[in-house]
Amino acid sequence: MGKVYLVGAGPGAPDLLTLRAAEILKRAELVFHDALVHPQTLALASRARKILVGKRSGRHSTAQSFINKRLVDTARKHGVVVRLKGGDPTLFGRAQEEIDALRKAGIDFEIVPGVTAATAASAELGVSLTRRGLARHVAFVTPRAGQGERKNDWAASVLAADTAVIYMGAGLAEGISAELMARGRPKATPVALVENATLPERRILHGTLADLPELARKAGDGPAVVLLGEVLRAALAEPALAEKIEAILKRA
Ligand code: SAH
Repeated sequence: MGKVYLVGAGPGAPDLLTLRAAEILKRAELVFHDALVHPQTLALASRARKILVGKRSGRHSTAQSFINKRLVDTARKHGVVVRLKGGDPTLFGRAQEEIDALRKAGIDFEIVPGVTAATAASAELGVSLTRRGLARHVAFVTPRAGQGERKNDWAASVLAADTAVIYMGAGLAEGISAELMARGRPKATPVALVENATLPERRILHGTLADLPELARKAGDGPAVVLLGEVLRAALAEPALAEKIEAILKRA
């Protein structure tokens, strides 16, 4: 009987992978991976057959129940099976469905954490998400709900949080901005949109909550997170960061 490793591939840059993840990839016989995993990361799994199962929003994806079944079936035949997910596997990655299926089938599994998009973005911005005196809590939210999923009040979490990081939200920027302002978040709240964090094609756009739809229109179609909160105001006012953003904008 094999073992399934749910491994975080990190946000993009291939060197933002843990040593543990790299070691497991080297031993892997099969790797089921998301669409956005960097080719250099996949190349570490030199012995493995690699199977793309992930999705980008709107495009064809493998049904989750089918992925669960394949993980179980292949773990019965192989030693080391890897489910490689972008960022951290336990955040917005449907890991629990895979974990439940593996548990039910009695298959051993292990989770290897990864750098999530929120912290990749805060690194790009040179911002502490929990800057002392300004922010003591951070919410990771998504306004997207899968088919048949109960509606989540993502906005309530954003309104309650000092700092919020919104995943899978750039395409919904207009609704996000309108709803948060209607529910009392000041329209001057500093906002940043970070696209393709940690990759050479990264983009950073910043403004206010009222500007968010415009920022999203300017962004490309890479994966992006929206950050929101006073920690951004303080940092964006710092000349060093302004320079860094300027340089990135010039490169883009
Ligand atoms: N498990 C992943 C998130 C999967 S959901 C993690 O921990 O990061 C996919 C969303 O993650 C994207 O829509 C985007 O909001 C965010 N994301 C992933 N990679 C990103 C990157 N390099 N830069 C900015 N956002 C990213």
